[in-house]
Amino acid sequence: MTTAIYPGSFDPITLGHLNIIRRAASMFPQVVICVMINANKTPMFTTTERVEHIRKVVGRLPNVRVDTFDGLLVEYADRFDHPVVVRGLRAVSDFESEFQMALINKKMKPNLETAFLASSEKYTYLSSSMVKEMGRYGADLSDFVPYEILEDVVERIRRNR
Ligand code: ADP
Repeated sequence: MTTAIYPGSFDPITLGHLNIIRRAASMFPQVVICVMINANKTPMFTTTERVEHIRKVVGRLPNVRVDTFDGLLVEYADRFDHPVVVRGLRAVSDFESEFQMALINKKMKPNLETAFLASSEKYTYLSSSMVKEMGRYGADLSDFVPYEILEDVVERIRRNR
């Protein structure tokens, strides 16, 4: 069975991510959202918080589950029989780094394909960094963050300010 792996930081998960997850869940028999632990990034939300947020949001999607991994995506993909990596593409600016990453992954593991889903135009401008930045200034985040975690995210950003 093909497993779509959707890796990322999800710091925090946004409606843009959720849009990609829903669409992947309708295309693939199972989807694993993998919170990647990236030593080069200092997240605002802990790994546990990010996993809890995602679980709250995808709870009603039966073929979606959440995992974490500290290492290379290709190593994680080795756990599955037929893995496909799913990534979202917002704009031309995403393309270069996404393309590079897909090619590097393919070089390390030639049968690992990456499927790109074009961002819904509603969320093209949306990123986790933008959510954190807007939240710091007290902006309404309800158009950006899933309602199940809105209060948690707002409160946490406020405490971090
Ligand atoms: P990373 O640090 O790996 O880029 P992110 O959590 O920022 O992790 O993003 C994970 C994936 O989701 C990436 O492929 C990114 O391009 C995609 N993504 C992020 N925001 C959006 C959005 N608003 N619409 C579509 N895809 C998105």
